Amino acid sequence: MKKCVVALAGNPNVGKTALFNALTGARHHVGNWPGVTVEKRVGWFRYRGVKYEVVDLPGTYSLGSYSLDERIARDYILSGEAAVVVDVVDSTNLHRNLYLTLQLLEMGANVVVALNMMDEAEQKGLKIDIKRLSSLLRVPVVPTVAVEGRGIEDLKCAIYEEMTQHPRHHHMTVGYGRAVEVMIARVVDVLRSHPQLEKYSLRWLAVRALEGDKDILKIIEDAVGEESAKKIKDIQKDLRNVLDDPVIFFADKRYELIEDIVGESITGGREEWSYTDLLDRVTSHPIFGLLMFFALMWAVFEFTFRVAEPFMDAIDFLFSQLASFATRNISNAALSSLISDGIINGVGSVLIFTPNIFLIFLALSLLEDSGYMARAAFVMDRAMYRIGLPGKAFIPMLVGFGCNVPAIMATRTIEDEKDRLVTILIAPLMSCSARLPVYILFAGIFFAGREGSIILSMYLLGILLAVVTTLFLRRFVVKGKPSPLILEMPPYRLPSLKAVLLNTWERGSAFVKRAGTIIFAGVVVVWFLSTYPGGPGSDINHTYLAYIGRVAEPLFRPMGWDWRLVVALLLGFLAKEIVVGALGTLYSPSGGEEASLRSSLQSTFTPLQAYSFMAFVLIYVPCLATLATIRAETRSWKWTAFATVYLVALAYAVALLITAVGSLLGRWMT
Ligand code: GDP
Ligand code: MG
Repeated sequence: MKKCVVALAGNPNVGKTALFNALTGARHHVGNWPGVTVEKRVGWFRYRGVKYEVVDLPGTYSLGSYSLDERIARDYILSGEAAVVVDVVDSTNLHRNLYLTLQLLEMGANVVVALNMMDEAEQKGLKIDIKRLSSLLRVPVVPTVAVEGRGIEDLKCAIYEEMTQHPRHHHMTVGYGRAVEVMIARVVDVLRSHPQLEKYSLRWLAVRALEGDKDILKIIEDAVGEESAKKIKDIQKDLRNVLDDPVIFFADKRYELIEDIVGESITGGREEWSYTDLLDRVTSHPIFGLLMFFALMWAVFEFTFRVAEPFMDAIDFLFSQLASFATRNISNAALSSLISDGIINGVGSVLIFTPNIFLIFLALSLLEDSGYMARAAFVMDRAMYRIGLPGKAFIPMLVGFGCNVPAIMATRTIEDEKDRLVTILIAPLMSCSARLPVYILFAGIFFAGREGSIILSMYLLGILLAVVTTLFLRRFVVKGKPSPLILEMPPYRLPSLKAVLLNTWERGSAFVKRAGTIIFAGVVVVWFLSTYPGGPGSDINHTYLAYIGRVAEPLFRPMGWDWRLVVALLLGFLAKEIVVGALGTLYSPSGGEEASLRSSLQSTFTPLQAYSFMAFVLIYVPCLATLATIRAETRSWKWTAFATVYLVALAYAVALLITAVGSLLGRWMT
């Protein structure tokens, strides 16, 4: 009996496995792909006297070299083992799905398109002209509903015909415009008459080579030898003279073609009416998407600030009551001072931000769980690729807004060493939640009514400096180009309350825990240094801290910060939360007076000094743990030292610049 292998390819969640089950019934076994732990499912069915072996490939959005799944799927199709590739397509989302289809066609696979989820398409009122789609793609297209077994016989028939047809018909090709086609033809010339390459589509190899796919370049080099490989490198150089970015160019051309195909084959209820697509038009737009992202972030800060205020007042009141209670009831002067001025004031001044932190995490979890963050990632991906960051850097950077330590660890998903190093070095510029208390405190005192904008400006400043740093590193230190990534786009969902709350709780409680441990220890040290040698109640200007602060103060005189701020910065090296904790202790009026940290800060500083201080806190080394993580992940003291020196110098320069520009502006305005 004749035998034929059929592979099922498609994006994740399009119904490949459902279709696999419908085709094969229970006749299958599960193994692993060679050398890796990715599941490989193989099954059988018979049709018109032929035995078909069906292989369920991992779900992928493209067939590049960026992930294990992609490589498995690509290599399997390249191996030529499968006589027919069934491309399973979600008919409610042709725009996204056809990208893979085009790649399969470019590879020269014998494709049968299974237009799955037709029931959902019908429900949405989409009318897909199957004949038109089939003739545009020049492959058989079979509508299916895998879960109900609809269209399965037709699909088997189409597979049978695809396998038996002679001669093979010609697939459609993606046209890339004359200038680029000339380059492709030149590469194809180099690739011709090499027996090892005969089984591949030379045009596809050429396109991938021009796109810079490292795996494909390796295959080519092995086959054609070094000299011919050099010719291809020259053609690549020529191409780069014509295009500023080949990767984006090729992807854009494919999407243009997809746009045309979808436009021609969908009639009646138009696809745009799907609210996911409609939303995506806005959220994934290169400009509106970015603006929307920033607007949302601003709304998050503004909203959380307003809602948190009464809670913060309540906690403030509670801690001041606690402090005066402790002062009144503890007779030992040193102990009373330690507990009320040191611990209660210090830890309290950090814990007061708990409501705010929880609310911000709540808002971010909502955005994440609804599927919005993936869109933001998509928009950032392209923007970041343009400045020389790999797309995969966005996730670590996003994590960095929570905490820089896991952000740096999350760079492990970036395969390229240079990409990874650049991402590690800029991760500390993402404003983590430990900096928030400083922003909230200073914005609340000095910029009342505009807190949201001021805090957002800190985040934007961090991002801006990350961009500048990347450009600098790419130009002078870690040269090279980043590798791109096509991100997964989950559908929009109603966020699950449980998942959101759990997520919020985990992140929020970590903040409280740090207040209870490292910040507690920090404020005890601060209290000791700010009380002795004079002892409790003595003049703060004659304490160890004042001595230390005075030594460092001249350095910061241009910014006009007094020694207490300088000391808080020094202690902030340990952890940023200590900055506010230390200020709480340093500015606490001894004896639990009514005057609060807020009012003493307000009477001591100008808004400009406050703003430059916030910027400094944003930029200089986040904390000792981050430095330790940089050391662990780069395995290099050199890069750790580089990061430290660079960040401190940058912080100083930016704070100075803000001071200078601010006072100039101030002079103009008055
Ligand atoms: P895979 O990731 O491509 O293997 O997708 P699955 O086979 O796991 O299917 C993803 C989800 O889509 C499952 O919940 C299926 O029940 C559902 N599904 C698959 N095919 C269809 C279909 O034709 N119509 C509908 N409405 N749902 C489907
Ligand atoms: Mg599956």
